[in-house]
Amino acid sequence: MNSTLAEIFEEFADLDREDQSQFLLELGDELPKFPSEQKTEENRVHGCQSQVWLITDVTGSGDEASFEILADSDSNIVRGLIAILQAAYNGKTAAEILKYDIQGVFRQLNLQQHISPQRRNGLKGMVDRITTLARKHAVSVTQTLSVTPVVAAPTVRKPFDVQAVRSQFPILNRPLASGSLPVYLDSGASAQKPRVVIEKEREVEERYFANAHRGTYQFGLRIDEEFEGSRSLIARFIGASDDSSVVFVPGTTIGLNMIAFGWGRKFLRSGDEILTTVMEHHANFVPWQQLSKQTGASLRLIPMTDDGRLDLSRLGEVLTKRTKIVAVTAMSNMLGTINPIRQIVQAAREVGACVVVDAAQSVPHLPTNVVEDDIDFLVFSGHKIYGPTGVGVLYGKPSRLEEMDPIHFGGHMISEVKIEESTWSAPPAKFEAGTMPIVQAIALGAAIRWVDEIGLEAIHRHEETLTSMLMDRLAPMPGMKIFGPALEHRGGIVSFRIDGIHPEDLAAILDQHGVFTRHGHHCTMPLHTALGVSATTRVSLAAYNNADDVEAFLSALHAAQSLSRSRKH
Ligand code: PLP
Repeated sequence: MNSTLAEIFEEFADLDREDQSQFLLELGDELPKFPSEQKTEENRVHGCQSQVWLITDVTGSGDEASFEILADSDSNIVRGLIAILQAAYNGKTAAEILKYDIQGVFRQLNLQQHISPQRRNGLKGMVDRITTLARKHAVSVTQTLSVTPVVAAPTVRKPFDVQAVRSQFPILNRPLASGSLPVYLDSGASAQKPRVVIEKEREVEERYFANAHRGTYQFGLRIDEEFEGSRSLIARFIGASDDSSVVFVPGTTIGLNMIAFGWGRKFLRSGDEILTTVMEHHANFVPWQQLSKQTGASLRLIPMTDDGRLDLSRLGEVLTKRTKIVAVTAMSNMLGTINPIRQIVQAAREVGACVVVDAAQSVPHLPTNVVEDDIDFLVFSGHKIYGPTGVGVLYGKPSRLEEMDPIHFGGHMISEVKIEESTWSAPPAKFEAGTMPIVQAIALGAAIRWVDEIGLEAIHRHEETLTSMLMDRLAPMPGMKIFGPALEHRGGIVSFRIDGIHPEDLAAILDQHGVFTRHGHHCTMPLHTALGVSATTRVSLAAYNNADDVEAFLSALHAAQSLSRSRKH
């Protein structure tokens, strides 16, 4: 007879490590064995050290249907873990399984402390398989039934207070050598970090640093909890339905390369087409250009309007049955243009193309929902969303991550290594070879929690007010050319040129006034060529900027103009 969860709790939770192992072995002994025809590759759970096969039996229909977990392993301890999963999940509906706090059960059982990291990965693999099967069932039910939408409880947030936000950034409150405070207008390149992020990094380093997914000692367990906790938080922040869809990567550039060469190279053939845009950052342009050279696929561009938006009325000219990938930025890092991703995805679906979104500039400033927008892949960097450098996120739909090949090989990402051949762990481990930027990934979680607590809608509204003020004041200046669309189509980025001062000279003069902006081609050379300029000056805003920053910038710009005029006379 199967043990109930209550019985397991009663007998198991207070046992020490050795007795827990013994108990698991005994539970495993009771588990019925699979007949050999059920031990198929299709039923195998990847990422386990031992062999595990898992299926579900569904009784009833629709959203009332209940699940029974059937599984077997060649390891008796793992069979014991299966018995715990059965006690926890059996008889639940798909919706109940998806909401169920299985980690809470493991915590109450003290299970995570007593099993090896490999076994923990295996346990996670089984849980992932169960939730994937439950999700598939839930999706098929919602597709056939009309369901009442679940309305999220409104979140009560404090009104946006820029001074309170700004006071949390030590670097912005430390005077420069001149005695004035820095006016930081280059957040599009990298945002500054609030104290909570800096302190989180320090906390990890000083109190419990260890490698992740390796040690079962106290530091190892704490670091795993923090690392995976950060992954969960990020998944919720971008609307992903599954934590394992969130892969930690070093940043947007590497993430996009992983997609181009792990997914693109596998599926693209000569004659296929990659559709991108001229407004891409080099990170979302050069990998596709190089992939097209390697595969023989051609690179095509969505036409752009004169005011720097994508001309979707002409999408049909370039999106064809041959288009396999649409790679597009959600927000241009030079024009500031916000692109209509949902509309692009809908069009791509009609030709069966995979959509890759470069969200490096959008995720810090605009709400993102990868599931609602049906995005295949989305990538962003930690350092642009008030987090550390060296870490970013690659989101992939579970099916896309399943079919994508890893391009980095080594420790942690494997399931089994033999002399002749190796197999891979399930995502996200499959794409996280070697030691991860652990501290940075954890601190990225702190950054995202910080953003979420303020609320992206409030941040966006605040940045929009400053952008409007900036554009209104710049536009009437003689010789001024602002690139990009009207306010309603852009985020807090304004790139411009002004007659008589080269962007490089302007940057130097602004710097003398303690105003930090970016100049040059901003890693968008094809776009600058299309616009007929070699360089521009870019102001990019973030939650901590205020009207005084805009005023300080404008007065430094006027000073630069006067200086340039006086030099000419
Ligand atoms: N994509 C966009 C739109 C960007 O603005 C940037 C950085 O400026 C990148 C990609 C590259 O990001 P990272 O340098 O963090 O890889």
